[in-house]
Amino acid sequence: MPKPPSCPQCPSRPQLWKDTTRTAPGHEDRWRWYCTHCARRWAPTPEHRLKFTVFPPAPQHPPR
Ligand SMILES: [Zn+2]
Repeated sequence: MPKPPSCPQCPSRPQLWKDTTRTAPGHEDRWRWYCTHCARRWAPTPEHRLKFTVFPPAPQHPPR
C-alpha cells in the first residue's frame, strides 16, 4: 500500500485519510482524502485515484 499524501493546508502536514463513506458499489473511485486535523476533504488526483482505489476482486468462475 503506497503512503497517503499529507494535508496541503495544515502546517503540521498530517497524513490524509481515505474517506470511502460516499462510495457505492460500482463507484469505488468516488472517495475523498480527509484531514482529521482541519476536517476538510480533498479530491484525489487522477494518479492517487489509480493508486489508492481498491476495486473488489473480479468474481471467480468455478472451472467446469
Ligand atoms: Zn488539514
